[in-house]
Amino acid sequence: MDKEAGGILVGRILVEGNNIIIDDISEPMPTDKRKRNSFSRGPDGHQEYMNESFQREKGCCFYLGEWHTHPEKVPNPSSIDRKDWERLLKVGFESGCLFFIIVGIDDLKVWYGQVEKLVIVELERWVRK
Ligand SMILES: [Zn+2]
Repeated sequence: MDKEAGGILVGRILVEGNNIIIDDISEPMPTDKRKRNSFSRGPDGHQEYMNESFQREKGCCFYLGEWHTHPEKVPNPSSIDRKDWERLLKVGFESGCLFFIIVGIDDLKVWYGQVEKLVIVELERWVRK
């Protein structure tokens, strides 16, 4: 019966190897619109979270995207999610890319969006053998 939750992703881009590390995520804030089957993140609190991270890391961190939960075993983005992700990519962020994470009941999935080409692809899980 839980309502959906969400927040922003904050992290680093390592120049060497072009690896990206998501270090922090913000948690739901009081002004987010949370329902059983939808989540709409408000700016309040999340922006402050980003600003605090930026100050603490002395500017060495980026806004890297969004996460939210779904009440389904294996998460699939809704048409609203996709529109929202496209809207964010069009804003154009310094990182050049954004990540979109949906946490389902049994599984978590990650989508990668490229700012320049406005392309969004689901990332495959890399399993160590
Ligand atoms: Zn969703």
